Amino acid sequence: DPVIWWVRRDMRLADNPALCAAIDRGCPVLPLFIFDEVMKTHGALPAWRLALGAEALDKRLRDIGSRLILRQGKALDTLRALIAETGATAVYWSRLVDPDSQARDSAVKSALADDGIDARSFAGHLLFDPWTVETGQGSYYRVYSPYWRAVKDRDPGLPLAAPARIPAPDTWPASETIADWHLEAAMNRGAEVVRPHLGVGEDAAETRLARFLDGPVDDYRKMRDFPAEPATSFLSENLTHGEISPRRLWHAGQEAARQGAQGADHFLKELVWREFAHHLAYHTPRITTDNWREGWDRFGWSRKEDSPEVMAWKQGRTGVPFVDAAMREMYVTGHMHNRGRMIVGSYLTKHLMTHWKIGQAWFADCLRDWDPASNAMGWQWVAGSGPDAAPYFRIFNPVTQLEKFDPGHGYSGRWLAEGRANPSADALAYFDAVPRSWGLSAEDAYPDPVVGLAEGRKRALAAYEARDF
Ligand code: FAD
Repeated sequence: DPVIWWVRRDMRLADNPALCAAIDRGCPVLPLFIFDEVMKTHGALPAWRLALGAEALDKRLRDIGSRLILRQGKALDTLRALIAETGATAVYWSRLVDPDSQARDSAVKSALADDGIDARSFAGHLLFDPWTVETGQGSYYRVYSPYWRAVKDRDPGLPLAAPARIPAPDTWPASETIADWHLEAAMNRGAEVVRPHLGVGEDAAETRLARFLDGPVDDYRKMRDFPAEPATSFLSENLTHGEISPRRLWHAGQEAARQGAQGADHFLKELVWREFAHHLAYHTPRITTDNWREGWDRFGWSRKEDSPEVMAWKQGRTGVPFVDAAMREMYVTGHMHNRGRMIVGSYLTKHLMTHWKIGQAWFADCLRDWDPASNAMGWQWVAGSGPDAAPYFRIFNPVTQLEKFDPGHGYSGRWLAEGRANPSADALAYFDAVPRSWGLSAEDAYPDPVVGLAEGRKRALAAYEARDF
């Protein structure tokens, strides 16, 4: 009897325990991707990117005698329909720990078990299942450093090889196509501008890893803060879609460290930040929707999504070059450098006194590496409302940040066009990517700051001083 491999954020053949277990049953395997109720709540670009990942996985599966069945609908209904069509007796998947996936998966698991189906989840999205890392008091970690110490010497096991062949059914069930889902149009942005910046699929992930290990890893610790340089791995896009396993990166990082790469340890630490984000999302699911520290519910942040200041932020038209460059980088490439994320986040929540959830939602609409756990942790870190967060009064000054981290203006120059004699191709591409309704042109004058930096800082600190928590 066939087994369904329910594909979600594990779009890979290599090191995929759920897939290996499905194959080990010795029956036909039916890889199934469902554009389901959780994915339908995803932001525009992440939803599109997820579908592109499914398309790439389908290609790879076809090379080894299999394929990906694409369906849309509620996860449970769709699984039951395919079970009825094919007589499948088992459904295997890789676990996810973000709250929405958890809620869906536990309901699916118990309903299928009631139907007499062997419904099972496997590790693979993370190095360490969140419930396996405990403090001495048997609780979860709220602070990163002790979390890092607790896991750094753990062995997550060796990556599993990709299967050479996947047993196929005699006839393939019907499949939809990605075009049926109209995700590109829903983005309302120039997909053709964004697409060349994506690195979709397992091969793209391996290419990125090879590039990183071939040089940038040596100086990673020092250079990872300079956004003009391609000094980081850019693997977050692939990690979030499971196009490469964290275990593969863990071993690659350790091997690089053994060979003397100076930055390798720091790379491992960053991978563990991702683990920590999932640890927090699992143990305190409200981190994705509410202030982790509840006192912040009474803070005077604006919740207006479309005030002129917030629109200027979204459009990269605040008049603050570092902020605007980073926002445009995200709009054109789907990626934003980590330094940029911290600066635009600080600017929104402090200089513009706007709720971090508005920033979280915009990132969730634009990022090719959108991850519910890392995005939530990042925003609550910046805003000061999270566990182990930057204190609110530490307000990034985007001018001194620019002098320090973009001294040659390679980054701001790459992304800003207005008022420049020879704008770069990327700076111009931004105007092809944005919706017409924004009415932007590269010929416009560069805007004056929407708020004076000193004034914005003063206002934020005054609100902070006046708080009652
Ligand atoms: P590298 O520097 O090469 O790091 C290697 C890997 O470590 C990354 O791919 C990522 O998986 C992990 N990592 C690195 N830094 C962090 C971090 N601070 N938190 C969690 N994991 C980390 N990352 C996402 O993957 N998705 C998000 O939606 C996301 N939203 C963020 C929002 C804010 C406000 C902030 C401040 C950070 C956010 N990050 C997010 C974390 C970080 O900015 C990105 O992971 C990183 O920039 C990705 O680039 P890279 O792959 O080249 O990273």
